[in-house]
Amino acid sequence: MKFRFKGSFVCSGDVTEVPGIGEIFEDANRTILTKGAPPGEGASSKLIGIESSKISFEIESGRYVRAHDAVLRLRKALSAYLGKEYHIGVRGVEVEKFTINLPSDTPPAEMKIPFVKEITYNNGVITLELDLGAKELEERVPDRIIRLVEEKIAKAAFGGKSEHWELLTESAPKPHTFDKDPTEAMIKRRWIIHGSVRGQWIYGTQITRIFRAFEKIVLENILDPLDYNEMIFPKVVGWEVWKRSGHLKGVYPEIYYVLPPKSRDPEFWEEVIDYYRVTQEVPLDMIRERLDDPIGGLCYAQCPPFWPFLQGQTIANDSTPVKVFDRSGTSHRYESGGIHGIERVDEFHRIEILWLGTPDQVIKESEALQERYKTIFDEILELEWRNAWVTPWFMAQEGMTGLSEKKEVGTIDYEAILPYNESWLEFQNLSVNGDKYPKGFNVKIQSGEEMWSGCSGVGLERWAAVFLAQKGLDPENWPQAFRDIVGDIEEGCVKLV
Ligand code: ATP
Ligand code: ZN
Ligand code: MG
Repeated sequence: MKFRFKGSFVCSGDVTEVPGIGEIFEDANRTILTKGAPPGEGASSKLIGIESSKISFEIESGRYVRAHDAVLRLRKALSAYLGKEYHIGVRGVEVEKFTINLPSDTPPAEMKIPFVKEITYNNGVITLELDLGAKELEERVPDRIIRLVEEKIAKAAFGGKSEHWELLTESAPKPHTFDKDPTEAMIKRRWIIHGSVRGQWIYGTQITRIFRAFEKIVLENILDPLDYNEMIFPKVVGWEVWKRSGHLKGVYPEIYYVLPPKSRDPEFWEEVIDYYRVTQEVPLDMIRERLDDPIGGLCYAQCPPFWPFLQGQTIANDSTPVKVFDRSGTSHRYESGGIHGIERVDEFHRIEILWLGTPDQVIKESEALQERYKTIFDEILELEWRNAWVTPWFMAQEGMTGLSEKKEVGTIDYEAILPYNESWLEFQNLSVNGDKYPKGFNVKIQSGEEMWSGCSGVGLERWAAVFLAQKGLDPENWPQAFRDIVGDIEEGCVKLV
């Protein structure tokens, strides 16, 4: 990795007569620009010229003291010198040219990166020509540009797959008493009908009873015996939360954005109201003009909006592991063309189970949950299911495999076969997230031990999709244990003629 910087410091006064500026640069090359780097690997700077209040210079560096860091270190040294002796300040930094060379075996795909003017590839080296100012140097934008480019290259090398999949356990094959698409079958019986917007269903009494039976199973077999307490997490999630949870690194295409009105003054909306009243048409353009910027989006993953509850707090030792769950509302994802039946919807229902504590506690809890899920799927729902260790591509890269390979930090997907199309569907997951959330939201344990967390999302639509796909809609084909819990699935409460 190589950095080349050309630019100038802009001072508050004329510095042409100030002696010793060249020495500051030479001295820096031996001291502040090598600090922290192996011998010979520091940055090296060169004074090019001084013109009234401008000091032009160049910096070359490797990966240790990166050129942009070197600029800031130099500015500090220069400010100290000029300020003390001559009462002149360094007002700013002008960037004339800033290039970064990254070795890479593969040429970069076509990409557009903020603050990067040009990307070229020659003899195994990617050259990034940056176009940025002092603010971006100070905010470490170049470091993030490098990480982003490296990630994009690694992702491409991973073959476009989003994750690495490794089978953990699988149940015995089970007899299937049904070979149809359960969504179609439910529509026929009017157990469900489409809602008014895309990817949304109105669930009638029968399927609602089934959802509630699933919840009861989770409550009685997992949450009560393992001492979980119920909470209510918000369902509109602000940017700050997703920033800390890491979701803003990529979730944009699937968010349902939330835009409040610019004003609640009826006069501000009068034109819209009147237009609708005389035309009976919704004036979308007029509405759009009256909406503010999005404040965030609807619940996507269920646990991030929990975390501000503990943000900046220290948890008493005897209070860990903390175990809570939420089932207070819907989750929303823009699934686009992927919508299918009740298994892939834009609006879904999920119980989110969340635990946190020391790494040991969190891993143990994950094992306890896995044990109980197995009992439910084998003995109550009698599903044909399997689970797999899935590693997202960015963790499957070299250097990040450590914890994931030990199968401590990472995600287990639970899948079941859909006999009607012979595909496997993920119906829930269980993740140990390591220190990601405690770090992101600055939560600590009193003992000072490391803190981890885990979460598991039980998707009710997905449970129903796999159960009904394997067992059909007729209760006589359902396992007795489940029939005892769900009770009578009588015909719906509304009779139609
Ligand atoms: P998929 O790969 O099927 O899109 P995912 O990896 O996006 O799933 P997660 O982000 O792991 O899903 O979400 C956790 C759980 O939430 C899933 O196991 C599933 O039960 C549920 N879920 C996610 N997306 C949907 C959806 N569009 N419709 C219904 N349930 C969903
Ligand atoms: Zn979660
Ligand atoms: Mg998805």
